[in-house]
Amino acid sequence: DLADPLVLAPLREELEEWSHDDPLARPTLRAQRGGKMHPVCSPFSGKEVGGWVSATDKDIDLAIARAVAAQPMWDARGGEGRAQLLIKAADLLEDNMARLLDLCQREAGKSLPDAVLEVREAVDFLRYYACEARMLFGAPQPLPGPTGETNLLRLHGRGVFACISPWNFPLAIFMGPAAAALAAGNCVLAKPAEQTPLIAALAIDLCHEAGIPKDVLQFVPGDGKVGAAITSDPRIAGVAFTGSTGTAHAINRTLAQRDGLIGTLIAETGGQNAMIVDSSALPEQVTRDVIASAFQSAGQRCSALRVLFLQSDIADTMLEMMKGAFDAMVVGDPKDLATDVGPVIDQEAKDKLEAHVAEMAEEGFPVTRLPLPVNCKDGHFVAPTIIEISSILDLDEEHFGPILHVVRYPVGKLRQVIDNINATGYGLTMGLHSRIEETRKFVEAHAKVGNFYVNRNQIGAVVGSQPFGGEGLSGTGPKAGGPHYVTRFATERVTTIDTTA
Ligand code: NAD
Repeated sequence: DLADPLVLAPLREELEEWSHDDPLARPTLRAQRGGKMHPVCSPFSGKEVGGWVSATDKDIDLAIARAVAAQPMWDARGGEGRAQLLIKAADLLEDNMARLLDLCQREAGKSLPDAVLEVREAVDFLRYYACEARMLFGAPQPLPGPTGETNLLRLHGRGVFACISPWNFPLAIFMGPAAAALAAGNCVLAKPAEQTPLIAALAIDLCHEAGIPKDVLQFVPGDGKVGAAITSDPRIAGVAFTGSTGTAHAINRTLAQRDGLIGTLIAETGGQNAMIVDSSALPEQVTRDVIASAFQSAGQRCSALRVLFLQSDIADTMLEMMKGAFDAMVVGDPKDLATDVGPVIDQEAKDKLEAHVAEMAEEGFPVTRLPLPVNCKDGHFVAPTIIEISSILDLDEEHFGPILHVVRYPVGKLRQVIDNINATGYGLTMGLHSRIEETRKFVEAHAKVGNFYVNRNQIGAVVGSQPFGGEGLSGTGPKAGGPHYVTRFATERVTTIDTTA
């Protein structure tokens, strides 16, 4: 139970020991041949906590050549051989929990419970995809066929995958796609987000320590330009991307324009996640779940609640109750266990969110904000905000921070609500608070979303039991942490043998 401070106390003690682990001293991040050091800054204090040197075009070319050369050997190792190394990597990540937590807090500004969940999720991904490697990449599967003929189906890696990840889950969403690609027999070029490369660098070192060869999994630091340079190379067989919808479109165009391999794109992107609350819902439960879904992790989860639909006959009462919980939230240092809402990732994110709030206020929509405490002056803090709007279609994009929009809907207009949510084109998460079975079935049948949460909070996924991912503008599928994910990284080969010959 991560809400219990005693559970986290031993980890905090261990963390103290690592507070002087200087990522700048780490060889993988040092300039190999000179080059500008880009700072990594703490979202809470704004202070520099590390840095990275961008991969050059020459580095990228060499990395791809090495990966292409290493891939047949990695593929030939088979599912069991790869699984053993992935499991060893999971064990090493667990052994290095404190170092990973420290970096997660320092570069991503995560609270300790969020950071612990993140490391655990990365470990779960490694173990889950290792099991998939064992099950799917072992003996060939015999297929039915005519007498006198044997047909065998084998799965193989596609080649070299680029795994491009966002800053909001700098370890789990970095490690998950990379582990799946490796499990399927691919080599991986991992390009983490430029805001949070330190934890990824450490995780890759640990994977190498576990025995995954250096050419099989390579760390390629850089910004979007480096991501574009990797994806435009015709030797890259596929891209596993998590990030904004706009960047996914850009990568899609890059893949379409190049010659060489016809690249696969597996994309997990943004959302305009809604929750619907009707008059049968339990108000205390709704209040708790709305606050957690919209403001936990400062709203910087792709699954976070963005637009709350309140049935008009209960809207005033619900808003009154929510206001109490909203006012009680503690904004501050993510290292402090009492903190509910920490900073957003950087100044650019803060400016974008503030511009949105200012624009909505200018347009006359009612805006409620929590005052920021004095200890939040140096960091990239955005005051938690509630904005009442008239339609979800008033929003033209995802606002990735602690901002909740509220829409009132008339009794009997549920269908219209769902149509409007679907009309955004996004389809990541949706929540429903209703104790009417018919309503649940109706929403389930008509909502085009990947993950639907009923009478609970709207965030979180559990590898294996709650695979996660969206549709439409929210992603290509298949779901991360689900039974079909690894196969997207694989190609099928069939051998037909005439047994009468
Ligand atoms: P982003 O799109 O700005 O960047 C993501 C990654 O893409 C970074 O590593 C970046 O350097 C790289 N990149 C940028 N331009 C590129 C290009 N032209 N070619 C190749 N790579 C390029 O996203 P972000 O701000 O880092 O992350 C936040 C977004 O991620 C939000 O939209 C959030 O909803 C989404 N997200 C989705 C999921 C999911 O599972 N659906 C999970 C987490 C985050």
